Amino acid sequence: MTPAGRFAPSPSGELHVGNLRTALLAWLFARSTSRRFLLRVEDLDRARAGAEAVQLRDLAAVGVAWDGEVVRQTGRGPLYAAAIARLQDAGLTYECFCTRREIQEAPSAPHAPQGAYPGTCRNLGAAEREFRRSTRPAAIRLRADVTEYRVHDVLHGEFTGAVDDFVLRRNDGVTAYNLAVVVDDAEQGIDQVVRGDDLLPSTPRQAYLASLLSIPSPEYAHVPLVVNSDGVRLAKRDGAVTLADLAGVGMNAAAVRDRLLDSLGLPAGPLHRALAVFNPDALPREPWVWPGT
Ligand code: GLU
Repeated sequence: MTPAGRFAPSPSGELHVGNLRTALLAWLFARSTSRRFLLRVEDLDRARAGAEAVQLRDLAAVGVAWDGEVVRQTGRGPLYAAAIARLQDAGLTYECFCTRREIQEAPSAPHAPQGAYPGTCRNLGAAEREFRRSTRPAAIRLRADVTEYRVHDVLHGEFTGAVDDFVLRRNDGVTAYNLAVVVDDAEQGIDQVVRGDDLLPSTPRQAYLASLLSIPSPEYAHVPLVVNSDGVRLAKRDGAVTLADLAGVGMNAAAVRDRLLDSLGLPAGPLHRALAVFNPDALPREPWVWPGT
């Protein structure tokens, strides 16, 4: 299988210029390394009716073209279940009955990273587990035997971050993002992951999980986010930030594309021009402040 890069939006609403900039970068990284470029809709959670169609239209409007069919996470349940079953068979999971509140109120384990699951359900006895099963459905957690893991990132170099007994399947039966992303990237032949650097802290968990499933880690590039004038990650409330909003104030998709390319130090115009000179080493490493219209 030809290796691939990807963009994996959650269809929770319209893409804003920050999402579109990340998509442009993911496309440039993939195409400049002769990879296929795949689009995966991460609709396990937070899906809003109609959002996917608008996202795909907006990606196409800024010139981001993808190969093959769009993949949706709903409908891939058997793949996720098989991966969880493999971990279960290897003794690498356990059932967790904790409520959010119980987790917040539990004393944290010594030396555990901040925010780590305190391990309450890690060693429940059989009788206790039987009893808890009758009270609420279980989430499935990973039985991690490390507390941190190191990954390599093209833009950030070596990055070491926390790993805890994170959730693989929520207690409402929905597969957790950290499991789905690892399974999907491997199954789709994706060996290059370009995404916003807000996801860098989750990456050690994903890479560790991949190692347990004997999946080679992809190449990671966590790209700087677009922020508002307060330095806060751009959001819909920051005014005209989607293609539809911007069209309404006279800025068409080509103009938005050109402004985003300019923010990356890349030439305006159809993407093949930017592709011809794309060099990850020359990319800005700082967040970019959206100047508004
Ligand atoms: N679906 C995630 C998001 O939209 C991105 C996940 C990823 O790129 O790995 O934030």
